[in-house]
Amino acid sequence: MFADLYSPLHQLKHPILSSFWMKRDDLIDPYISGNKWRKLKYILSAAAAQKKNHLVTFGGAYSNHLVATAAAAARAGLKATAFVRGEAVQNEMLVLCRLYGMELIFTDRESYRDKTACYEKYFGDSPDTYFIDEGGASAEAVEGCAELIAELPSDTDHIFCAAGTGTTAAGLLQGIRDAGLKTKLHVVPVLKVGEFIRQEISKYTTITDQLILHTGYHFGGYAKTQPELIQFMKTFTADQGILVDPVYTAKMCFAIYDLVEKKQIPPQDKVVAIHTGGLLGIMGMKDKF
Ligand SMILES: *Cc1c(COP(=O)(O)O)cnc(C)c1O
Repeated sequence: MFADLYSPLHQLKHPILSSFWMKRDDLIDPYISGNKWRKLKYILSAAAAQKKNHLVTFGGAYSNHLVATAAAAARAGLKATAFVRGEAVQNEMLVLCRLYGMELIFTDRESYRDKTACYEKYFGDSPDTYFIDEGGASAEAVEGCAELIAELPSDTDHIFCAAGTGTTAAGLLQGIRDAGLKTKLHVVPVLKVGEFIRQEISKYTTITDQLILHTGYHFGGYAKTQPELIQFMKTFTADQGILVDPVYTAKMCFAIYDLVEKKQIPPQDKVVAIHTGGLLGIMGMKDKF
């Protein structure tokens, strides 16, 4: 069903770096995009192994994970329900969720905090449902993301990725360790207090000095932007011909340019940025452009 996963590695231009690449996971699928496909892959097989036919998950009203789960469930012939944080709203992301047949349960912020309680309240007695945490965070997701490393050149010096839950970063670090590579993993948290990512990663894999956390590129926090980031996004997209999203990948790319300029990355090193997708999120920011 999802066998023909294909994600090319494209070389990018850069004024200083001579070997700058982007792993185009955004091209895997328009709706199960980027890391969301890698995260869902083994979650879906775990659900199938347990004979579950109904995925239940959690997210905000602009969650890429919700759209990805809705699309993946529809293609796999499964039902899907999502607890959506906050009061009932409508937007282009939720339209996609609904089109794919996902049922949405809007949940006030207070109740949303206790995901297990939400799940138990509606599905506690159901033998058919499979719980997927917010953002798909799970050991299965880590396993799926670890596979990306085998698709990169083994002489990569630096890999950059954006982090929300840190699950993708945990997988990449795991993959680097499994392959015995010297590659450094640079993680750019998009939330304000990014240090928690280190703790999240340590739930799944051993932290090594190959992990470098860059906590200074959140631009005010999750889904927040500043004029400098928007300007960077415009220049980057027009220059490279590749769209990045304001929530995740623009912040990661900004970090790369900034660190190179500050001479923290040697110009001759091979740098690979992981494009984790998320381009639908641009639609929610139409007033910024
Ligand atoms: C969900 C998402 C991330 C964050 O992945 P985590 O595994 O939660 O850290 C990064 N980039 C994009 C585009 C995403 O949609």
